[in-house]
Amino acid sequence: MGLEVILRGARLNGAAIAIRAGGQAIRYADLLGCSEALASQLAPRLPPAPRGAPAGPRVGVYSEPGMPYVAATWAAWMAGGVAVPIATSHPPAEIDYVLRDAGVSAVLAPESAADKLKATVAAAGASLHLIPPSLFSAAIPEAEADAAAGRGDAAEAAAAAAERARSHAAAGASGGFDDGRGALIIYTSGTTGRPKGALHTHGSLSAQITCLADAWRWRASDRILHALPLHHIHGIVNALHCAHAAGACVDFMASFQPNSAWRRLRDAPISVLMAVPTMYSYLLMAHDRMAPDQQSAARAAAARLRLAVSGSAAAPVALLRRWEEVSGTALLERYGMTETGMILSNPYEGERRAGFVGVPLPGVAVRVAPDAAAPRGEAAARGGAQGDLRVGGPCLFKEYWGRPEATAEAFDSDGFFKTGDVVSLEGEPPYYKILGRASVDIIKSNAFKVSALEVEGAVLQHAGVQECAVLGVADELHGEVIAALVVPADGGAAALAAEGGGDAAAALRAFCAERLPKYKVPSVWKILDEPLPRNAMGKVNKKDLLKRFF
Ligand code: ATP
Ligand code: MG
Repeated sequence: MGLEVILRGARLNGAAIAIRAGGQAIRYADLLGCSEALASQLAPRLPPAPRGAPAGPRVGVYSEPGMPYVAATWAAWMAGGVAVPIATSHPPAEIDYVLRDAGVSAVLAPESAADKLKATVAAAGASLHLIPPSLFSAAIPEAEADAAAGRGDAAEAAAAAAERARSHAAAGASGGFDDGRGALIIYTSGTTGRPKGALHTHGSLSAQITCLADAWRWRASDRILHALPLHHIHGIVNALHCAHAAGACVDFMASFQPNSAWRRLRDAPISVLMAVPTMYSYLLMAHDRMAPDQQSAARAAAARLRLAVSGSAAAPVALLRRWEEVSGTALLERYGMTETGMILSNPYEGERRAGFVGVPLPGVAVRVAPDAAAPRGEAAARGGAQGDLRVGGPCLFKEYWGRPEATAEAFDSDGFFKTGDVVSLEGEPPYYKILGRASVDIIKSNAFKVSALEVEGAVLQHAGVQECAVLGVADELHGEVIAALVVPADGGAAALAAEGGGDAAAALRAFCAERLPKYKVPSVWKILDEPLPRNAMGKVNKKDLLKRFF
């Protein structure tokens, strides 16, 4: 079946708008047509894939959010290739790393990117295929899109185009959209080391898409405000491909900016929002700065969303509560990773528990491997499951591209993927809680194991704190000591200092002592006057923070 799941959405909804971006809109039938045209230019320029090879030639996809990104991805598949999304925000050295690491033979990019890419692509031994704006001559001004969407019957044209796409891909040595064939290499975020390319097959992607379509009730009438980077699984699979498989509309923002996001939410019938926690924080800060009438319009827009999802990093409980106050509904927090797609999710219907990531998604098998390194929490005290999370099922990636040893090490003897994240199962009904990555978030201090995420959650409850990262700093006497980097909220620095009698750290220490056992209270505090450095997914790299601040 493979990636026909996406083309099926397109086929059934040929007349519907697939993408809105930069004031333009395009219907599914037309987008398929553009992708086909691009695929037929690309296919003859790709090296042949040896018969039986697990993956065809790698095709780099470099584009800001918009029509060229989607057409390039679909064209790469139609030409029998593996799409490799490249972050447009990355400097040439990072682009070079991905091109060489994935062995990319051709890069598809809009003409406007030519100057930035030419030298880098050539140096990495790949060819550059520029997409002219004229490829999208069937796009219509957005203002006409609503009227046009209901007019005419493009379904037949789209069905025929989707059928051609399938046979196109099947015709070469590529094996079409067979479940076992490579479809996409997504690089991990690089939070714990150099990003690794995770190869997903047509089968693993369609398993993820089918699972989320069901769990989060994707439907053709949905319109997602898409403001996530397109080189990470969250923005690519959860937000983009799931929407297209459902025949829904993807409303792209060129880049995330909280005030324009609020404007779009207010002015357009957006039904779905997906974002990382820092994006929700920025939205809330922008909301708090609005005049009262704007605020009530923003609240009404947030209340109209049928689904707002948070993930990629832990959402602080204070943030979840605040969003619920503003919108009237709880964010749906879920947990997943590049290698596996989404694993655990709070329910669409039913209790969304702040600080927890819910239960396994349908079709995802999980196990908790008891781990001596896991912190002793409530769950362990009650004899509940606590330890390293392992995952099985059809959503799993096939391999780390070009890293057979890392791939072998990543799976246990039962074929379950070792996430490296420590979790516990707590409460009634039992929900999973993420305690953090074993490698950087579980701090070994004296005889104790402490979850940095739990400590961060406590610090972030203080109204004067905007951001916090908790780290384990090597210490001869204690093994590691718990250190907290704190970014005060607007006006928070003075308030914290006043509260602590001139010492902000003293105020925070006392605040934590009321909420955490003594051994979890950080002993080292650094108050920063600039935001924490975060990557495009809003994640902090704790190894970098250690180097920089300690
Ligand atoms: P790398 O693997 O390159 O070091 P990374 O693990 O950050 O980077 P991703 O695959 O993008 O790369 O992120 C997956 C990780 O993000 C998970 O293993 C988990 O630690 C974290 N994560 C995702 N969602 C959540 C969540 N809701 N709560 C806490 N952590 C989360
Ligand atoms: Mg990882």
